[in-house]
Amino acid sequence: MPIHPDTLRARFREHFVAEPRLFRAPGRVNLIGEHTDYNDGFVLPLALEKSTWVAAAPRAGKRVRVHSAAVGETKEFELGTSWPARRGAWVDYVEGMAVALMQAGVPLAGADLLIDTEVPVGAGLSSSAALELAVGRALIGVSECELTPVALARAGQRAEHEAVGIRCGLMDQLTAALGQAGHALLIDCRTNEATPVPLPLDDVSLLVVDTRVKHSLATSAYNTRRAECEEGARSFGASSLRDVALDAFHAREAQLRDPVRRRVRHVLEENARTLDAADALRRGDWVRLGQRMSASHRSLRDDFEVSCAELDFVVDTALALPGVLGARMTGGGFGGCAVVLGRHAAEAALSASLRAAFARWFGREPGLFFTRAGPGAGEVRA
Ligand code: ADP
Ligand code: MG
Repeated sequence: MPIHPDTLRARFREHFVAEPRLFRAPGRVNLIGEHTDYNDGFVLPLALEKSTWVAAAPRAGKRVRVHSAAVGETKEFELGTSWPARRGAWVDYVEGMAVALMQAGVPLAGADLLIDTEVPVGAGLSSSAALELAVGRALIGVSECELTPVALARAGQRAEHEAVGIRCGLMDQLTAALGQAGHALLIDCRTNEATPVPLPLDDVSLLVVDTRVKHSLATSAYNTRRAECEEGARSFGASSLRDVALDAFHAREAQLRDPVRRRVRHVLEENARTLDAADALRRGDWVRLGQRMSASHRSLRDDFEVSCAELDFVVDTALALPGVLGARMTGGGFGGCAVVLGRHAAEAALSASLRAAFARWFGREPGLFFTRAGPGAGEVRA
């Protein structure tokens, strides 16, 4: 459900009896470039039009009170520079963000925060980065401080590493911070340089399909994959897989243990595919973009092994439908969402057919929505 600024303001007044300012940060969907960000590689995501919103007002002292409408809970904590004990709860993200900002030298003031979100939570569309960035923007805003978007993104990543325990790359936070309406971002995760690439969705459509499953191994498997990639880089004497050329890999791949060999192959080929997909997008070559997306899925399924039955079903079903140019899982995997690129003219039939096929096979409905690229994090002024 879209969040209306006036409604959010009214709810804040009711909850905290003060006049708020509003901040928001988007979720994201990744077109291609999966599990490459923490290998200093390339990614091609876009910010969604769905955001996490934070209504915020400063308060005297060093206390933060925060209410999440999605959870229906209010929590409190004192601002400080040491990491809180991990509680495995949503407030870890919020307090983690505050600590990361304080550690970065931002002198935060106490605040009251009311959070609500349009981003499906836990669906692989990065509601977590949206939460971090929206909370970060809000805390900085009401403290009358400033911070660059990239520094804000880094603070979000640190919060997730330290306070939550997920060793995520920087893609989600950078996309939430730097997203541009009507554009995908080609991000070089070595330099964190983001180049906007126009994404005119007139002839083609982007459909996000939420399988509404999250398999329990998602977090531990993510960290394992990351360790396997690091092992792969070390065996080439490289600090990251970005520095391993495909030729060098082919010359020496037999010496790598399985599954490290396949993990490395995925990352190296995915980087090449992502650059090629960005080139295709610049040239308006939708067919090539679609082919690269589908190839990415096969690699994530077979070499990186982060897909699952539900995601494979959506991708295979989509690719057999008329007007579909490409499909792949998006995000970390083990559930979550797939993204489908299809001809605009086939849009209605595509979503109806996918919904029906999924429901027939799994006995329940998936979440489906078409999206365009939205803007990055910012304050929403009255
Ligand atoms: P994703 O980022 O793909 O949505 P994650 O598991 O990384 O999935 O992040 C989801 C977690 O982020 C939730 O379990 C919750 O702890 C936190 N979260 C996200 N949005 C909100 C929100 N609006 N209110 C409270 N917690 C949230
Ligand atoms: Mg997340």
